Amino acid sequence: MSASIPKCEVGFIWSPELETFDFGSKHPIRVGRFQMVKDFLEETRFLEHPNVKVIRPRPLADSLLQRIHSSEYLKKVQRISITGEGEIDIDTPGFKGIYENAKITSGATVTGIEAIISGRVNHFYSPTGGFHHARYETGGGFCIFNDVAASVYHLKGQGYERILIADFDVHHGNGTQTYFYDDPGVMQISFHEDPEWMYPHDGFIEDIGEGSGRGYNVNMCFPMDSGDDVYRYAFDEIVPSLINFFQPEFILFLPGFDGHYDDPLTHMNLTMDTISYVAEKIHAAAHRWADGRLGVISGGGYNREVFRYGAGVVMSVLTGRKYEIPPQTPPFEDDEGIWSEVKENTRKVKDLVFSALGI
Ligand SMILES: [Zn+2]
Ligand SMILES: [Zn+2]
Repeated sequence: MSASIPKCEVGFIWSPELETFDFGSKHPIRVGRFQMVKDFLEETRFLEHPNVKVIRPRPLADSLLQRIHSSEYLKKVQRISITGEGEIDIDTPGFKGIYENAKITSGATVTGIEAIISGRVNHFYSPTGGFHHARYETGGGFCIFNDVAASVYHLKGQGYERILIADFDVHHGNGTQTYFYDDPGVMQISFHEDPEWMYPHDGFIEDIGEGSGRGYNVNMCFPMDSGDDVYRYAFDEIVPSLINFFQPEFILFLPGFDGHYDDPLTHMNLTMDTISYVAEKIHAAAHRWADGRLGVISGGGYNREVFRYGAGVVMSVLTGRKYEIPPQTPPFEDDEGIWSEVKENTRKVKDLVFSALGI
């Protein structure tokens, strides 16, 4: 960042309507998730910060919904929504009102985008959003409507030509990848746990985009138990060069709280310090290239405490107000096997992507 400190106005996208879902009491996404974040940001007094505004989400516009999903799929979601019967996918149960809930939770991201475009804020944080597994004809992986794709189309409609999706959720952004695979106007960088065993079993290093979009789809995979040191190594080797090459006009960022060592659904070994490290770098990049235009959507994260701390980290980075992360002690250190695999994967990504882009 330059010597002049930018003014960072931040929108926190929130309303009680976000909680109108019901995947069942045993599902990892439970009611109370978003209220918990709001309560935490009140306790930690981030919501009193003079630069923070609470912004009420609006439902996703039908025109965007029809752009991102087939009419057959939309009809299926509507049918489930009316009857409460059926499922979106094996891991994503249906419930009464699912259509309206998905419209508001995905609309929250586009509401944030509009607040930035209109100049009301520079950044937004939405505790929901990041439904990156939804595709044109299907949902799944707890995702109904792909808000990331909707946001990109909305931005394109407003004349933005270079949009960066910085997807650090620990699962591959497989749905989003399908929309923009041949589009050099959208760069997706996805850092995720190895798809060999990890849902959604997609997102291999070799998948770098096609046609004029070749090199603009970047998949970096990590072996099980990867920790802070290897993750930062890969980040530093890969991400800054890509961002400086692409010079994004807008950045959408999924911070990936589910890469934390306490997350019950994944096998990575990251601490909040690394999640904070990545957030700081992405925030700085937004000010360097995109006049500060940065949207943060929580994506996954299935440990309640980690989700709260993650919200604190994000708000701290966006507002510039200090937030002390509680002490973190991961169970392992990166061993030689992990180091050699991550170095090898990093080299492969650079060989393929950097040469396709001429970096
Ligand atoms: Zn800022
Ligand atoms: Zn995830």
